[in-house]
Amino acid sequence: MARVLIAEDEPKIARLLVDYLAQAGHEASVVGEGDRVLAAVAAEAPALLLLDVMLPGRDGLAILRELRRVSALPVIMLTARVEEIDRLLGLELGADDYVCKPFSPREVVARVQAVLRRGQPAAAGPPFAVDELAQRIHYRGRPLPLTVTEYRLLQAMLAQPGRIFSRDRLLDLMHDDLRDVTDRVVDSHVRNLRRKLEDIAPGQSFIHSVYGAGYRFEVVEGP
Ligand code: CA
Repeated sequence: MARVLIAEDEPKIARLLVDYLAQAGHEASVVGEGDRVLAAVAAEAPALLLLDVMLPGRDGLAILRELRRVSALPVIMLTARVEEIDRLLGLELGADDYVCKPFSPREVVARVQAVLRRGQPAAAGPPFAVDELAQRIHYRGRPLPLTVTEYRLLQAMLAQPGRIFSRDRLLDLMHDDLRDVTDRVVDSHVRNLRRKLEDIAPGQSFIHSVYGAGYRFEVVEGP
């Protein structure tokens, strides 16, 4: 059982989430105004905050930014704005996960369970976790904002660390229908993947170029 605070101004959605969370054994309360969210966090000391981006008064992004100055409370953002996702998860704001609206309450509950599980002390485990059902990859509990292709490439490399993947092999993994995909397309996906990994794990490198052969994934953690 965990206490969950839901910051959501649409009563129907809020009620649905309360019901589903209750079925999963969690106790949820609702705050509908942006200005009251931080006070409610302080008063109720929830184990997790479900935070809608679009709230009257103060919006979810401003709330998250202020919360992160003082608290590492797990936060799952509810957003209808797909273009916000990179920022939400990035270093700037640091949400733990997000769910896009419209969502199924079941999906929200599954994310809540996953984030709560991650919060439990097991920090010494492997840094990457693959969620095959959701097609997501987490680094130290934070989801990487990957495209489907990037997910496939990284998932394959994670499954066989140290193995050299040729560009042809990576092309196969991409399952692209395009007839004219070239080595350069692989390189550009790998470049994007590296950038996203660098965003979430600054100063570390994971995907190494092997001259004339392809790429190899290795976790070499810095200090
Ligand atoms: Ca809203």
